[in-house]
Amino acid sequence: MLVAAAAALACAPARDDDLYGMTLEVRSRQAWASDPGFRTRLHILLEQSCDHLGLDPSLLYGITLRIEDDDIACGAVAGARGCTWREDGVVAISTLAWTSAEPLVSCVEDTPIPHELLHVKIGDSGHADPRWRDPAYWGPLWSRLEHGDCSGDPPNLIW
Ligand SMILES: [Zn+2]
Repeated sequence: MLVAAAAALACAPARDDDLYGMTLEVRSRQAWASDPGFRTRLHILLEQSCDHLGLDPSLLYGITLRIEDDDIACGAVAGARGCTWREDGVVAISTLAWTSAEPLVSCVEDTPIPHELLHVKIGDSGHADPRWRDPAYWGPLWSRLEHGDCSGDPPNLIW
């Protein structure tokens, strides 16, 4: 009986709004962050980013993903748009746009989640790895994630 139940569980289709065991903490007033389809888009963003970065999504399990509307204090940077504290298991991203405070990012795909996931994978808070600044590295991921309601100017620079 136990064996049968385990087999049935193993065959259950993956939920398309699963966040790989991340705890989502939304502190944002952006309409897109409370949209009914938001978790599904976030799931796709996480899935595609992990695939692109070669990051095992099971490493996301237990991490808190926080979305906020303000600057984020991150190490020596007071006004960061995102930060990853690997030891604490926290990733925070801001809905402030990448190069200016206004307008706010118009969709979750324009937040620096992929950037922070590379931090989850390699650390490198000093951005020494050449991938951080390489548009050719990020380009294929942005084209896979394109949405009509996004700005078309996703974050591909270091913070
Ligand atoms: Zn960074």
